[in-house]
Amino acid sequence: MTPALLIFKPDAAYRRAARAGIWQWLQERDDMRLTGLRWFHAPRELIEQHYDFLAGRPFFPWLVDFMSALPVVVGRLEAEPAHLERIRHELGETQIQKSRPGSLRERYGIFGGVNCLHLSDSAESGAKETELWSRHVTFDGVRPDRLADGGHSPDHTYELRSLAAQYAAGTHRELAANRMRELLREESALEGDEFETYARIILGAFD
Ligand code: GDP
Repeated sequence: MTPALLIFKPDAAYRRAARAGIWQWLQERDDMRLTGLRWFHAPRELIEQHYDFLAGRPFFPWLVDFMSALPVVVGRLEAEPAHLERIRHELGETQIQKSRPGSLRERYGIFGGVNCLHLSDSAESGAKETELWSRHVTFDGVRPDRLADGGHSPDHTYELRSLAAQYAAGTHRELAANRMRELLREESALEGDEFETYARIILGAFD
């Protein structure tokens, strides 16, 4: 068995229907074992280290903000390396426009790199990432607070995707942004400053 790191990124952690769907997808698996899971607000330095191989890419500052602006749900799992490869395959490709129909990211990711879930992509990265995060988080029990709530909340994935494509292309940009904010608000339970932060990190991906 090999360890791997799992993260409900903000677009999964705060979209109630998406997180319920992803949580169900995880619970139904018999090819891995969750050894820890909890909400955790990651410091910027941890995200910078986690994604150090992407430092220098134009989207890196956004990525660090995206992953550190609000608490996310982080977990540790154990699986056979071949099973980890299969779970990664089911997760789908990084860029939502290229993600395989039926994959988890195609189903719940919004657009571009706003792709709902992180999962270590190999035994090597799993060992490295779980070791790094273990310096900040204790993986001592599965605490899926609020993850299962929200099965009855609206799921605007496909409308958000189409609006994000327009926004990114600069077509009806203001209209698209306003409508995205409305839909994001309907899907989440965030309010006030937290909602503003959430809207900033989602829309910021497409600037
Ligand atoms: P992953 O293993 O599929 O998550 O992909 P990578 O390790 O290559 O990238 C890490 C994360 O960076 C992705 O999951 C995305 O959230 C983000 N990312 C990667 N490429 C891009 C990009 O071209 N644009 C944006 N905005 N984000 C990206």
